[in-house]
Amino acid sequence: MPDWLIFLAVILLLGTGWIIGRYQTLFSFSQSSTPPRSSQLFKGLNYLINEQPDQAIHYFVNMLEEDSESIDLQMVLAKLFRKQGEIDRAIIIHQRLLARPNLSDTSTLRIHIELAQNFYSAGLYDRAEQLLLETVAKKPDVRAIQLLFSVWSDQQEWLKIINQASSLKTLSEISRMQVVAACCEMAELNDEDAFTYLDKAERYKPNSLLLNYRYSEAYLGEGAGRKALKSLRKLISLDQSMIPIALPLVKRCFESALWGINYRTLLEDWFRVQPSMSLVKELLILIIQEEGEDSGKLFLIEYLKTHPSIPGLVQLVNLHVNSGHTQESSVLCLVRELCDQMVDQEKKFQCQKCGYQTLKMYWQCPGCRSWESVKPVYGLNSE
Ligand SMILES: [Zn+2]
Repeated sequence: MPDWLIFLAVILLLGTGWIIGRYQTLFSFSQSSTPPRSSQLFKGLNYLINEQPDQAIHYFVNMLEEDSESIDLQMVLAKLFRKQGEIDRAIIIHQRLLARPNLSDTSTLRIHIELAQNFYSAGLYDRAEQLLLETVAKKPDVRAIQLLFSVWSDQQEWLKIINQASSLKTLSEISRMQVVAACCEMAELNDEDAFTYLDKAERYKPNSLLLNYRYSEAYLGEGAGRKALKSLRKLISLDQSMIPIALPLVKRCFESALWGINYRTLLEDWFRVQPSMSLVKELLILIIQEEGEDSGKLFLIEYLKTHPSIPGLVQLVNLHVNSGHTQESSVLCLVRELCDQMVDQEKKFQCQKCGYQTLKMYWQCPGCRSWESVKPVYGLNSE
């Protein structure tokens, strides 16, 4: 569900409550009076139903602006302004709320966090950081900590995240992942201390996909293929859909070490549970090397019968393109070109939380900023 729909749903609930209250008040004075702002609610609703959110927001904002007493309504209004990019107006609302006498500690905390969110959204990192540090010093609120770590993460202040985390007794799941990401960044920047940072990250979230991926990279950097493969096997046991991400590193593990485990047997084991195109391509090379091209073609045809896919068709065309007549080869080349174009235009990764699609792998979704939610897409044009 898009954020703006959630906001509008909240407004509708609040608006409906307000309208009922208004009706009750007005009816106590005059049975014939019409609620003055009900038409705004219904006009807003009408625009919402007709999928015209901007016009709907206009009516709801008017309603909320007129009700300046309720802190909750004013907070929703400020959030709406922020969502629309009108951060100055959101800041003014929050500053006005803070100026109210007799604010409870809970309300002050909520307003401070929202105000810091405004500064963060406006790129005013210093002001956001200062406000959040003061807030966290008074009370280690989960949302304040997450926001503070986001501010530092955007500025690549990895050590600040790691140090602050070590001074806190409890952290939310999201913040644990923020610390893991910070440690992984530090490990990448400091080859010599890489394992110090990765081991630190492991204490916060040992089952992080990103952490196990970075461990395997660090081990490969040292030529420790067996340990790298152990991390990659853990990554895949945590999430089999990550096989296409892990596969290039798995291949490197076998290049850097001689050992008893058979590369093809390992791939065949994974293929049985997750028959992805990346595995098919790799297995195809091995089958052709060990058994010849005919066995490769047979394997691919059997795969395509149960898992029809454009990239699979390209592989099949590749196998036939050089073995036929010149005229047939040129037709096959054309088919391959068209298929490649179709595959190239397809997004290869998708966020499982917000649906954001991308050609590149991200450990943190650029759309909703969730961690480890972007996964390879499986389908006709992809894996
Ligand atoms: Zn997302």
